[in-house]
Amino acid sequence: MNNRRNWLKQIGLGTIGLGFIPFETFANPFAEDYILPDFDNSPILLRSNENPYGPSPLARAAMEKSVNNSNRYGWDLWSELISAIAKKNNVSDNNILLGAGSTEILDVVLQYSALQKGNFIMAETSYDYWTASSEKLGIKKITVPLTQDRKHDLTAMLKAIDSDTKMVYICNPNNPTGTICDREKLVSFINEATKKAIVFVDEAYINFTKEESLSNLVIENKNLIITKTFSKLYGLAGARVGYAIAHSETIEQLSILKSSTNMSVSVVSASAALASLNDEKFIQQVYSSNNEVKKYTIDQLTQLNLTCIASHSNFIYFSLENYKKDYFKQLENHNISGTKIYEENGKWTRITIGTMREMQLFIAALK
Ligand code: PLP
Repeated sequence: MNNRRNWLKQIGLGTIGLGFIPFETFANPFAEDYILPDFDNSPILLRSNENPYGPSPLARAAMEKSVNNSNRYGWDLWSELISAIAKKNNVSDNNILLGAGSTEILDVVLQYSALQKGNFIMAETSYDYWTASSEKLGIKKITVPLTQDRKHDLTAMLKAIDSDTKMVYICNPNNPTGTICDREKLVSFINEATKKAIVFVDEAYINFTKEESLSNLVIENKNLIITKTFSKLYGLAGARVGYAIAHSETIEQLSILKSSTNMSVSVVSASAALASLNDEKFIQQVYSSNNEVKKYTIDQLTQLNLTCIASHSNFIYFSLENYKKDYFKQLENHNISGTKIYEENGKWTRITIGTMREMQLFIAALK
C-alpha cells in the first residue's frame, strides 16, 4: 500500500523503535532471527492463525541443509520424526500417523468415518472446512450449537449421538472462538461417547495453552483419535506437517486409506518439523509473545467497546456489534487481511494474533 508509510507516520509508528515508546516496551524478541515484513508493500496477514515469527531458526537451517537430500525418499527421516513426535506425546511410534498438515488427517478420519455411512457430529460454530466433502462421501453432518459462552456443549453433543453416529469432532481449543473444554468434563465425555462412536479431538492450538494433550488416553481407547499440527505454534503452515495420535490398531485402520503411509511429508518439511521440536527457545518465545500481544489486543478492543471472548489460542473472537465504521473497509484501506463474520447475530469475527507491531497497526486501523 503506497500510503502506508505516511499513515504510519501519522499514527506514530513510522519510525519503529524511535520515539514510539509503547512499541519499545514490546521490542521484537526475535530480533536476531526474524526479519520483519516490509510493511510498505506486503499485506498484514491476520486471517489464518499462522505464526508470524516462524519457521524457527533451527528449522530454517535444517530445511536449507535437507534440500540436498531431496533426491531421496525420506524413509529414515520419517521414522525419526515419528519417534520424536511419539516421545513428545508420551506414546509409541505405532500410535502416530503423519500427514501433509493436519488437514490430511482430518480428510482421512472423515473418509474412514464415512466408510459405513451414517452421520457425524460437530459444534456450530467450529472449524469445518474439512467437512465440505461429507455429503459426497455419504455421511451426514449434524451440528450442535455452542453454549452461550461459546464453549462446546458436551452434554448436548452426547445426547445427539444416535445409532447412526460414526464420529464426533471436538476442536479443543475451538476455532474460531478460542474457548477450551474443561478437561474433566471432556475426559468423561470421551469415556461415554467412545462407547458408541469415534471421538476425534483436534488439538491444533493446544500448545498455546498449559493444558496437557489427551494423547495418553489413546493407549486404552481404540475409539479416540487426536490430531495435531506443526502449522501453528511451530510456525510451519507452509511446510505442511501434521499427525494423528491413536491406538496402534486405529492407526492401522486409518493407514489403509493411504497408499503409502507417512509418505506425504517431504524430506525438507520433515527435517523442519524435527528441528522445530528441539527449538525450545523459539517455542518459548512464540508462546510468551503470543500471550503478551493477545493481552494488548484484547485490552485495546475492549477499550473500543468491542466484546471479546477469552482466548486460549493465537486468535481472538470478538463482536463488531458496537463498531460504527465498516470494519472490512477499514482493514482493506490499511492492507490488513482479516477473516469473515462467523455469526451474523452479534457480528462475531476472528482476528489472528500477529506481532505486537502488526496488532498496533490493526488497532490503529480500527480507530
Ligand atoms: N485444525 C484447526 C482447528 C485449524 O484451525 C486448522 C487450520 O487453520 C487445521 C486443523 C489445519 O491445519 P494444517 O492442515 O495446516 O495442519
